[in-house]
Amino acid sequence: MKRALDGLYPPICELCGCGLKDGKVLCEACEEKLPRIASPFCETCGESFFGQVDGPFDCPNCKDISFQFEFALAAMDRCKETLELIHRLKYGKEIHLADGLGKLACGVLSDRRFQILLREKWLLVPVPLHPSRLRKRHFNQAEEIAKVVAKQCQLPMMNVLKRVRKTSTQTRLSRKQRLENLKKAFELRNTWKMKPPATLTTVRGVILVDDVFTTGSTVDACAKALRKAGVKRVAVLTVLRG
Ligand SMILES: [Zn+2]
Ligand SMILES: [Zn+2]
Repeated sequence: MKRALDGLYPPICELCGCGLKDGKVLCEACEEKLPRIASPFCETCGESFFGQVDGPFDCPNCKDISFQFEFALAAMDRCKETLELIHRLKYGKEIHLADGLGKLACGVLSDRRFQILLREKWLLVPVPLHPSRLRKRHFNQAEEIAKVVAKQCQLPMMNVLKRVRKTSTQTRLSRKQRLENLKKAFELRNTWKMKPPATLTTVRGVILVDDVFTTGSTVDACAKALRKAGVKRVAVLTVLRG
């Protein structure tokens, strides 16, 4: 089936339009050009910094905040091309981009802390969409990305959360308003609420998966719901640092 479609629509790089042979979504040159998060970066929120950082330092993004997750890390640093790919996936419904973005997200797994979580087989949990948004979009981009990560690194993935509060678009809100808006926005799905699955309480921890990490308020609200359900440790993996 895929081959037949390839014949009709020869695969091209989604950024520069050059022809591709290997079923990827980006050509090598474009993929290499996209900036990755590299050391030094904040050990808590994954914000990257220029220059040398010796020893612990105060991150301007999270120094006065205590998150419900232990740490968050994005694979890719801010750039308009990566953001464009994510927007095309989410708003343009170009679901075929999930594969390439999921594979880019796997870049964080070389981080020494993620290496441990991989060995301990932590559970991947995508950040859920509100049902009304899911009906419009037909898929949850975080889940599509999590599926690729699960397959690539052979970790289990489960949809254990649901979004119970419809939060209007967050971009124009202040940090404080966002946090207020997100309080109690997430819960365990009903089936898990009745009888928490063995995996949720016996698993060493949960890796929350989302497309973009901006202030961390969304994943923090998810982490809070998971911790309330008895999950001991939570880390966060995203494709992009927004
Ligand atoms: Zn290209
Ligand atoms: Zn930070």
